[in-house]
Amino acid sequence: MADRLIHILPEQVASQIAAGEVVERPASAIKELVENSLDAGARSISVEVKGGGAELIVVTDDGCGMGREDAIISLRRHATSKIRDAADLTAIRTLGFRGEALASIASVSHLNLRTRRSSDPHGVELAATAGDIGASRVSAMAPGTRIEVRKLFFNTPARLKFLKSVVAEQRAIIETIQRLALANYRVAFTLVADGRELIELPRAGSLLERLRQLSGEKLAAQMLPFTLERTGMKAYGLAAQSQLSFPTPRMVFTFVNHRSVRDRMLVKSIAQAYQTLLPRGRHPAAVLFVELRPEEVDVNVHPMKVEVRFRNPGAIFELAHRAIRDRLAGQFPDAAATVPMTSATEGSGGHRPLRLVPDFPAVPPSPVQPGLGLGYGDARRDGPGAGGGPSPPPAPGPSAVPAYSELKVLGQLFAGYIVLEGPDGLILIDQHAAHERVTFERLRAQLSDGGVQVQALLTPTLVELSPARAALVQAALTELRAVGFDLEAFGPTTILVKGTPAVFGADGGLRLLSDMIDSIGEAGLRHGGAIAFEDWLKQLACHGSVRVGRTLNHTEMRALLSDLDRTDFKTNCPHGRPVHIHFGRSQIERMFRR
Ligand code: ADP
Ligand code: MG
Repeated sequence: MADRLIHILPEQVASQIAAGEVVERPASAIKELVENSLDAGARSISVEVKGGGAELIVVTDDGCGMGREDAIISLRRHATSKIRDAADLTAIRTLGFRGEALASIASVSHLNLRTRRSSDPHGVELAATAGDIGASRVSAMAPGTRIEVRKLFFNTPARLKFLKSVVAEQRAIIETIQRLALANYRVAFTLVADGRELIELPRAGSLLERLRQLSGEKLAAQMLPFTLERTGMKAYGLAAQSQLSFPTPRMVFTFVNHRSVRDRMLVKSIAQAYQTLLPRGRHPAAVLFVELRPEEVDVNVHPMKVEVRFRNPGAIFELAHRAIRDRLAGQFPDAAATVPMTSATEGSGGHRPLRLVPDFPAVPPSPVQPGLGLGYGDARRDGPGAGGGPSPPPAPGPSAVPAYSELKVLGQLFAGYIVLEGPDGLILIDQHAAHERVTFERLRAQLSDGGVQVQALLTPTLVELSPARAALVQAALTELRAVGFDLEAFGPTTILVKGTPAVFGADGGLRLLSDMIDSIGEAGLRHGGAIAFEDWLKQLACHGSVRVGRTLNHTEMRALLSDLDRTDFKTNCPHGRPVHIHFGRSQIERMFRR
């Protein structure tokens, strides 16, 4: 006996350790409790917290409830009604399945559980302290479940010390509930914190309506619904028009089978769909749902279930990217988009005190982006109203984009801007940005449908690769050939380049190849390589386009406008700068105090 060092930990200690993984902070406890309510089919879920959730959390639902026996066992570790055996792990249709949330929370708090099935005459009440479950009692209550968690982490002081300020914990709770509410728009949610109602969301009829409830009419009016289906998978959601952008990716939400997940690949699929529409460093607003057969995704890779693993990430990337990209290509004209917008933070006078975008105003991208573009960047800066450095235009509001070629051309301004009379005001078109987009899309179309014209190199060139890169490049050879590189593997870590896409010229082609090789990611060329390719196309489009400073005659202006109308993504140049700025009639009249 004396030489035995190893022993099995008591259940309670094991639970506390497990709790460390599942329940990181009050918001994660709330996530687990609300997910249980959703799994129980609740139509209405209310959350109450005190002291940022550290003092008190109460989650009440009108779901299916539990019978007495189930209630008692539900607080034990590995207790779940959602799976029976390991085989069930391959096809999970519920949010929970690990059977450890309630046990974990109970082991680090004072927990009170009251629950009633609608078929039972009364409910049952249970209390547990640090995982010690007391005797059950009869409880008079409406059908559903109410779980009260007091003094979270009272017996794990180390964890308690790591909690942030009440405000920060509350903020995390709000974000958690917002994500759950986006994924479950048919369910009503409320959040009351220290007696103040912070979230109040009646059941909604659509995702858009839920978004409107969360972030207001102005943002919602800028969102474009998209959906795309392939066998066994579907991508759908809402993507903001490209005039709208944010300094952080906080308005990007990704869900897989109705579970909010952090997934870099999905976020990238969105970012790449906006690739030439937003200036570098700006982020869109987007809500992306991916639905696929449960067998296609492993949700059991993270204790808090906020990450997933896909069986076929490439196909999902492609689908999500396509879905959003196609929607953005045809984003105009869209008569519904005429709501003028100044700032997404502006309340509409409603009583909801919190918005999805409380921190920063959503502004259209500034027309001047220092450091982008080549050569004539300086010329651009001499544009309207500038004189000294970048200054944003006077509150241009994104509005429905008309067919430019049908509008009356009033003339050209500063040899750089075409002036149009729009249906509701004055429109200025940046001729360089416009032409750049036209050229860029033309090149892109040529490359994608005519196949890419390959130009043979006079002397084939050997490119030496690191072993890690070599493997990725070998795997992407077919894709590289498809975009116009004539390549051959030449030994394990060397490739032989015999030709490059003709549009870029020999030198440009080789430099592009090395950029593309640098940026090939795990999932092949699509992730990084395609961006490098587009960057080069952008440069090419840039060089081949009319600059600011060139006087255009009427015919040239008309031709440019008709070309622009036939072009996808015509609202922004390939670097994301706006092509047009609109001065609304009412705005003009206001300035004249009419
Ligand atoms: P899991 O959700 O992974 O099954 P939990 O520890 O979160 O594990 O919950 C254990 C079980 O308790 C669930 O499987 C479910 O049967 C039951 N349960 C928990 N919360 C509720 C609720 N709000 N309404 C009805 N049943 C619940
Ligand atoms: Mg659960």
